[in-house]
Amino acid sequence: MPYTKLTKTRSIIVTTCFVVFLASLIGGVGAHVISTMTRSADAMDDERAERAAQSAVMSMKQRMAATVRDNAVWDEGYKAITSDDAQTYTYETWGRTSDNYLLYDAVALTGPDGANTASYWKGQPFDPRNDLGPRFLDQVKKASNPSSKPIINFFSYGGQVMMVGSQAMQPFEPDPEIQTYSVLSFLKIITAETTDVIAEEYLLDGLKLNSQPDPTTLNLPLPDETGKPVAYLSWPSKAPGTLVYKSVYPYILGCIFLLALFVAAVVVAGGAEARRLRKLAAASRFQATHDSLSGLYNRLGLAEKLDRLLGLRGKRQRLTLYMIDLDGFKPVNDAWGHAVGDHLLMQVGDALATCHSDVVAAARIGGDEFALVQVGSTDPAKIGQAILNVFRKPFIVDGRTIEVGATIGSAAEDDVQDPHELLRRADMALYEGKESGRSRWVAYAPHLDRERQRLARLEGELRNAIFNGDIEPFFQPLACARTGEFKGVEALARWRRGDTPVGPDVFIPLAEKSGLIDMLGLQMLRKSVRAAKSWPGLSLSVNVSPIQLCNPGFAGDVLELLAAERFDPKRLTLEITENVLISNPEQAKRAIDALKLNGIRFSLDDFGCGYASIGALRQFGFDRMKIDRSLVLAADRESSGIDVLKATISLAAALGIPVTAEGIETGRQAEVLRDAGCDQLQGYLVGRPMAPADISQAIAKAADAA
Ligand code: C2E
Ligand code: CA
Ligand code: CA
Repeated sequence: MPYTKLTKTRSIIVTTCFVVFLASLIGGVGAHVISTMTRSADAMDDERAERAAQSAVMSMKQRMAATVRDNAVWDEGYKAITSDDAQTYTYETWGRTSDNYLLYDAVALTGPDGANTASYWKGQPFDPRNDLGPRFLDQVKKASNPSSKPIINFFSYGGQVMMVGSQAMQPFEPDPEIQTYSVLSFLKIITAETTDVIAEEYLLDGLKLNSQPDPTTLNLPLPDETGKPVAYLSWPSKAPGTLVYKSVYPYILGCIFLLALFVAAVVVAGGAEARRLRKLAAASRFQATHDSLSGLYNRLGLAEKLDRLLGLRGKRQRLTLYMIDLDGFKPVNDAWGHAVGDHLLMQVGDALATCHSDVVAAARIGGDEFALVQVGSTDPAKIGQAILNVFRKPFIVDGRTIEVGATIGSAAEDDVQDPHELLRRADMALYEGKESGRSRWVAYAPHLDRERQRLARLEGELRNAIFNGDIEPFFQPLACARTGEFKGVEALARWRRGDTPVGPDVFIPLAEKSGLIDMLGLQMLRKSVRAAKSWPGLSLSVNVSPIQLCNPGFAGDVLELLAAERFDPKRLTLEITENVLISNPEQAKRAIDALKLNGIRFSLDDFGCGYASIGALRQFGFDRMKIDRSLVLAADRESSGIDVLKATISLAAALGIPVTAEGIETGRQAEVLRDAGCDQLQGYLVGRPMAPADISQAIAKAADAA
């Protein structure tokens, strides 16, 4: 879960960033397009306006050129100005009109030598050489050659800007002999009126004549004959792009605002979602690594914590892991219910987590299993004791006083890198603690591993032996206490592992633990029954494990086997130990009743070394009781032992239950137990457990003796 949440968070962040980037890109491209359109629209219009201004100047010049040409190339005019009447003619033809004429404001007729012939400025005579200066004379000089092309230039004098056109005064057919003519010049002052007309005609609003270029407007220079500007036509740019831009500016602002709003919304929503997911991920991470009941770490959380701590080796003090298994928790749950059990677990968890200052982490890793991690130099034995101390006082849950104990296994980090190995070692130590009697602390040691491995190997071999039928019954005689006569035999399982015999004390518990006992038990019963068929006069006793008896199919299996082997159930006695009567009395009673109904008898085995009461003897309907060897030995050692024996046997006698004495090795023991009331004796004195053939031989010998 945390991983998918994390990738989701990442994808939300990526998406948000992408949307922000996209929005910025759209905004940027939009801004670029708008500004480019604005600028190019402005530039296009400026270009148009400049071309219009140029055309205006050009047409002004063309009109001047046409006027000059019309008047200068003219046979009659030429004749007149070359006559004595030239002055009058000039005045009459052009001078008078110059006072108020659209095409020119002054006229100047200069002779071939450049001297003033006749010149009029607004109808008044004037001397252009003085008033227009040397540059005018230069132009006149250039124009004095016969040419069809008038010379036109701009001039600036006395604060006024004017256009002057000059051309040689000549006949239509110029005389090739004449190189220099008089020159007719027209002069047109450029006034505000002139610029207004141009402005209107050429759509150049605000057109003005300036002596200097205006940096805020568009400017067209009016050059003199050297190309140097004498003045400028200036007019403001219409900037239609800017105009349009300004008119749509509020909408653009609106769009930018909406885009910004959208981006902000995406960022806020994305951020909130990412935060929410991160919180969720943190919560589910906590859930995944913690136990919901106690709030401590769970198995996964513990493994991760160990992993982190093991990675810090060298930067911290020694680490030790403790596994704690509660003793007696199940009965609490059964007796008081799960709610009380849960409260107890919470209290235990709290108490464990705070039992020592070296404890850096606490976990609940199973129903009633806890773990503590110690980082510190305190001796693990002291921590083990601190943990045991937690259970010294009873717990108070909902007003109930509840006592539980604990078994502890610990493992120090030593050479361990892997948290699972550390857990395994602590588990191994805990297992050893439970096996060796509970309510104790056991530290891991390598021999535990070796022991576990040895047992695992042994279990494998036992399994093979059972499947191969290698385990055989030996038979130990049961004799009448008074006469010494053979009455029966007890089957005892024998396993030769290679050359070494393995005692049933070892392999029977192993078979019980590994689930092989049902099979082994039935195998023993079958083999014993088959052997006992050869000894018709003897009863057969077979040991039954409590686990077999708790198997609901047990009674059926036994009856089926006896039927198949055609063995009289009345000859069979099953020996069971008392612990089954305590752990599972109902099932035991059901099985015993079913088998007794078919004539099978029951012996209570190993009486005197456990808790079974005499009452249980009667309740389960035992047909016989077998006194454990430890009682026999005790009777040997002290006189009070004899009293205990006697009391026990007479109680059984009072219930009408006959008693067998086990482990009789000496004549004295036999005598004591016979006197105490045992009717049957079993032990090395009577006979050791032996192979079936030896039993047959012993029977034959006894028959011979009789
Ligand atoms: P148990 O049923 O009490 O068996 C009697 C044990 O006492 C046998 O040990 C026997 O060899 C030993 N014994 C008999 N007489 C003497 C004596 O005079 N002195 C001494 N020191 N010992 C004597 P064994 O054969 O080693 O069996 C041990 C236990 O293993 C049995 O105790 C029984 O509980 C169990 N067992 C043996 N065979 C089977 C079996 O087939 N099924 C089951 N479930 N348990 C078996
Ligand atoms: Ca027995
Ligand atoms: Ca016994």
